[in-house]
Amino acid sequence: MESLTEPSAPEYTSYSQLTTYAECGEKYRLTRMNKHVEMPAWWNAGGSAVHDATETIDKWWWDSGEPDWLANNVNDEMITDQFIIAFDKEVEKMGEHKDEARASRGQKHEWWMEHGPGMVRHYYDWLLAIGWKLWSGATDPDNPPVEYMIDTKLDPSTEDSRVLCYIDRIFETPGGSLVVADLKTGARKPSSPLQLGVYRAGLLAATGVDVTLGCYLMCRKPMADQPTTEYLMGLDNYSPTHINKYVQNLRRGIEAEVFMPNRNSFCKTCGVRQYCWAANPQCFL
Ligand code: SF4
Repeated sequence: MESLTEPSAPEYTSYSQLTTYAECGEKYRLTRMNKHVEMPAWWNAGGSAVHDATETIDKWWWDSGEPDWLANNVNDEMITDQFIIAFDKEVEKMGEHKDEARASRGQKHEWWMEHGPGMVRHYYDWLLAIGWKLWSGATDPDNPPVEYMIDTKLDPSTEDSRVLCYIDRIFETPGGSLVVADLKTGARKPSSPLQLGVYRAGLLAATGVDVTLGCYLMCRKPMADQPTTEYLMGLDNYSPTHINKYVQNLRRGIEAEVFMPNRNSFCKTCGVRQYCWAANPQCFL
């Protein structure tokens, strides 16, 4: 899969940029600067379809304006239909590379068709049981608290502190607390709340609303135990100033062209491995 444009630094910073740069600088250079498109992966296609299905249904809920819409309307047929519609689009995007797409433990099309709708079901079983609602303070009809978009400067005086975030959900608990949430279809819970912290900082800088709780919603399995204290995390430490330090370090690294490869066991599933000089000594650019 080819590089599409001349190398250039992104105009904004996102959590995925921060984590890509931290995990492998060379991967950052290849994907974000040189714009190489990664070889598709079934886990991305399936995971995106789960996200899309829940987003579609939650936006219907939001648009209805009825707190009980979900309880009265969501069902297995709706879930399966929405998953298949979203998954078909993802598979189509793979195009000619579908047969070479990366897969974890053989989990390809058939596996995701079998298990994807169940992940969506886990999310709704959990949401209906816990009784959280979507954040009622999101007043812009074009920006519901489902994939809530933030484009803001963490430091108003610095253009390169600009961050772009799409927050999967902003929930209101029955007790009135706000929670930023990110849906995960992988098996492993992220080891740090940093992603949620970026959302807290971005939301605070953009709107003045301070959400100090966050959780990862691990929907691969039934979610009855979520969020326990293990899943619901305090985000007080992640101020705009704190997150901006990450952003400025990333910016300095890009400016100095410091892109350190991180050769490790994940290289074998890396989507830009064929372009990587560290993995392919014959590939010096
Ligand atoms: S193959 Fe490994 S070192 Fe190379 S870009 Fe990918 S993750 Fe980084």
